[in-house]
Amino acid sequence: MDNCIFCKIARGEINSWKVYEDEHTFAFLDISPATEYHTLVIPKAHYVNVLDIPAEVFAKVMQTVKKVVNLYQEKLGLENLQIIHNAGQEGQQDVFHLHIHIVPRYKNDGQSVTLTRQPNWQDKFSDMMKKLN
Ligand code: AMP
Ligand code: ZN
Repeated sequence: MDNCIFCKIARGEINSWKVYEDEHTFAFLDISPATEYHTLVIPKAHYVNVLDIPAEVFAKVMQTVKKVVNLYQEKLGLENLQIIHNAGQEGQQDVFHLHIHIVPRYKNDGQSVTLTRQPNWQDKFSDMMKKLN
């Protein structure tokens, strides 16, 4: 895609802090990190998010996620992290080229990813399951 910032990063047309690259994927530091070494992993080909990417390309992206996590474990002693994928506007996606966030977590890093839970919704589950049949 001509006007996609992450396509440009994958092609090397825009500078980035590259952590890892192979034929199909690219990993680089998030320019506005939540924590130290907050990293994005993308496919080099343009897909919007998990809804349109073919499973085999998504698998390659996740293999790279695993490589980067292992690298940080080995080099930084990383023991805590969150892996986040935002999909769609209501899913808080801002850049519409698929990316997986690797967010290292540190004691007292001041961050939190919080979802409000509804334990009382279990009485809806039986109706919800009917839609999946
Ligand atoms: P999301 O809200 O999941 O779409 O996340 C988009 C992420 O891309 C944000 O965390 C941004 O900080 C990050 N970002 C945007 N532009 C760049 C860039 N040029 N280089 C690195 N990260 C970027
Ligand atoms: Zn793109």
